[in-house]
Amino acid sequence: MSENSLLDHALVRLDEAARHLNIDADVIEKLKYARETTKARLMIRMDDGSRKSFLAWRCRYDDTRGPTKGGIRFHPESTADEVETLAFWMTFKCAVMNLPYGGGKGAVQVDPRALSKTELERLSRAYIQAFARIIGPDRDIPAPDVYTNSMIMGWMADEYGQIVGETVPAVITGKPIALGGSLGRGDATARGGYYLVRNLASELGLGERMRVAVQGFGNAGQYIAQLLAADGHTIVAVSDSSGAVAAKDGLDLDALMAAKAKGKSVRETAGQGGHVALSADELVGVDCDLLVPAALENMIHKGNAETIKARVVLELANGPVTSEADALLEARGVVVLPDILANAGGVTVSYFEWVQNRQGFYWPLEEIHERLRTIMEREGRGIWDVSQSKKISMRTAAYVHALSRLAEAIEAHGTQNFFAS
Ligand code: NAD
Repeated sequence: MSENSLLDHALVRLDEAARHLNIDADVIEKLKYARETTKARLMIRMDDGSRKSFLAWRCRYDDTRGPTKGGIRFHPESTADEVETLAFWMTFKCAVMNLPYGGGKGAVQVDPRALSKTELERLSRAYIQAFARIIGPDRDIPAPDVYTNSMIMGWMADEYGQIVGETVPAVITGKPIALGGSLGRGDATARGGYYLVRNLASELGLGERMRVAVQGFGNAGQYIAQLLAADGHTIVAVSDSSGAVAAKDGLDLDALMAAKAKGKSVRETAGQGGHVALSADELVGVDCDLLVPAALENMIHKGNAETIKARVVLELANGPVTSEADALLEARGVVVLPDILANAGGVTVSYFEWVQNRQGFYWPLEEIHERLRTIMEREGRGIWDVSQSKKISMRTAAYVHALSRLAEAIEAHGTQNFFAS
């Protein structure tokens, strides 16, 4: 592993958590490395008749607690290191929520916005052709992530079914409803974060009228803004990859959603309804109570962490706060609700989808929401209690909570299962 890789940064959290538990060194050693990471080159025919190839990976980080679970990202800067780190986080996220899964992740190094719909479909099918031997409903279950969506999951589930010669809806989650997708998957990540904040609001010192800034106005960002606004909170700033807009008295969410639906940046709403343009990085320092990073990794770093005015950070993105920034925020008393808890609503409803696919019996939306709320509140409060009793951050407490479950499972398997004596 190279020095200062993303995974190195992530493993700092594992060591920190291990200090608060009496855990066998073998358990920690096992969790420091991905079980398997497979790399493939996907070759597809472009619409103009030429051929192009794209690097792709699928990582099964740890399957101690069940089949590996994690999304597939299409991004031009994806790397094997990023995929393994995201899979490590999935391992802990599933354990935080007590889902019967290990952690996995996949990616294709591609800018999907540069592909036509037919090229995107061919690429999605090529991914499944390359990794069909690795995935499976009892082995490794993909889902959507950055720049992938239910349409892509539908193509992938279809391709898998064609390869194995039968319909296997439980192989992939985040599918269209018509192919066995679950109700409530679309807003699940944001909704989970929303239930968490709502349940811990008084402990966190958050009032009934919060001012909220959202970094990244994509799937997770748009839904959290809508859910909080519907409860009477004020969305004072949002950003996307091209810039940000702010309005002290609240942004016009309908105008923002309309701009995004037309493929425009939120920045293009500047001038409407009191919207003022900011740079994407200025959003972090906007005056607010709750800051919601919902874009990509490492967006809050030692260079901008000191500018944060929010008292609480809700990490809907994976790994948005670097470990250096984390320490700066903790020293200033800013509470960070960590990704492996805060954005676990997505994988939790993915789990519900997998359960429904296996039962062939589908639940109404109210049941999905109620089950998600119950799990978020139970695990969120459990982690809050660990953080209070051990006087540690919510992030360390979440890792402690998950690590104790992982350790129990690793030991239950028998350590000779993993290490040659
Ligand atoms: P998305 O592609 O729908 O949205 C990402 C948004 O981030 C886009 O609006 C993009 O313009 C914006 N962005 C990119 N670079 C930016 C920058 N420099 N500054 C500000 N904004 C920027 O993706 P998503 O599904 O909403 O995922 C967002 C994050 O949430 C990712 O970290 C993802 O891993 C995590 N997450 C998503 C889910 C889910 O169910 N969608 C589940 C768990 C975690």
